[in-house]
Amino acid sequence: MKKHNFSAGPAILPQSVLAQAAEAVKDFEGAGLSILEMSHRSPEFSAVMAEAISLVRELFELPDNYKVLFLTGGASSQFYMVPMNLLSDGEHSSYINTGTWSTKAIKEVSNFGTVEEIASSKDQNFSYYPKEYTIPENTKYLHLTSNNTIFGTQIKEFPETKVPMICDMSSDVFSRRIDASKFGVIYAGAQKNLGPAGTTLVIVREDLLGKTERNIPTMLDYRTHIAKDSMFNTPPAYPIYVCMLTLRWIKEQGGLQAMEAKNEAKANLLYNEIDSNPKFEGVAAKEDRSLMNVTFVLKDKSQEAAFLEKCEAANISGIKGHRSVGGFRASIYNAMPMSSVQVLVDLMKAF
Ligand SMILES: *Cc1c(COP(=O)(O)O)cnc(C)c1O
Repeated sequence: MKKHNFSAGPAILPQSVLAQAAEAVKDFEGAGLSILEMSHRSPEFSAVMAEAISLVRELFELPDNYKVLFLTGGASSQFYMVPMNLLSDGEHSSYINTGTWSTKAIKEVSNFGTVEEIASSKDQNFSYYPKEYTIPENTKYLHLTSNNTIFGTQIKEFPETKVPMICDMSSDVFSRRIDASKFGVIYAGAQKNLGPAGTTLVIVREDLLGKTERNIPTMLDYRTHIAKDSMFNTPPAYPIYVCMLTLRWIKEQGGLQAMEAKNEAKANLLYNEIDSNPKFEGVAAKEDRSLMNVTFVLKDKSQEAAFLEKCEAANISGIKGHRSVGGFRASIYNAMPMSSVQVLVDLMKAF
């Protein structure tokens, strides 16, 4: 029986996407070849790549000066590729530290320039999103993490900035409307809300590139991949194909506006139960609660194992909280149906 998959990542994908992806492994759209054994230079795969890129452009309403790339190395490689491509030695960058992933991103910058943590929520175990900070005049960019997968906080309103905003959107990309033109770089590992592990979506404002004197290794230079439409070397064809199917599915569902409405409804259902059920309580500050990763605990910790057992019996998978937070985390990405959230809520009510 198919489980209710609340895993934080790799995560749930739409059933229809999985069905098409499975079919394409056997025979890609009647080509007589599996997608796994087809040349990435074939007309078939070129069409997949072109459609994936064009759907990203359409869903985000990207202006022409933004380039869409499907790279490898995970979101984690963007932690160093961003400063490597955008900062010169001694140049200054600003970061907002909202959790494990931001902390890792900050760690990489000193290899390339200087970094200032202009705000942090570390003082309260990253349970809120900092709102008060000053962006220094001399900074090249502001980096933030829009959704904190582990702690369950999410930025609700992006700041107005004079410098380019760089955003790690790994766990909430395409879950809501954004004004993409506010950003210099957007990046997201596919495996949270877009597709399988193996590719990373990177959106770059092209005029930011080529400003550093640094020698950038060919594979790590965004310009290499822009010039070759993400096909400088063999791209991760299958993960990109599955991303394309998910992007098509998002469009069919009504685009980002529809995703946002559905995600709000699902999150409301679950947070309402957390707030009204005397046994449970939420982890993140209410105004910063994530629509994607819902973190909560049992007030009586000794009942945790019993609740996890009930979840397992109800076919609920992936709900155990990250070790740095404890308790529970229900990841309710785009593909998560309301009916599965209802199963969890019913279980909480009955517990
Ligand atoms: C999962 C995650 C990452 C790491 O992604 P990889 O693709 O595994 O490198 C980075 N940032 C955020 C916000 C994440 O959720």
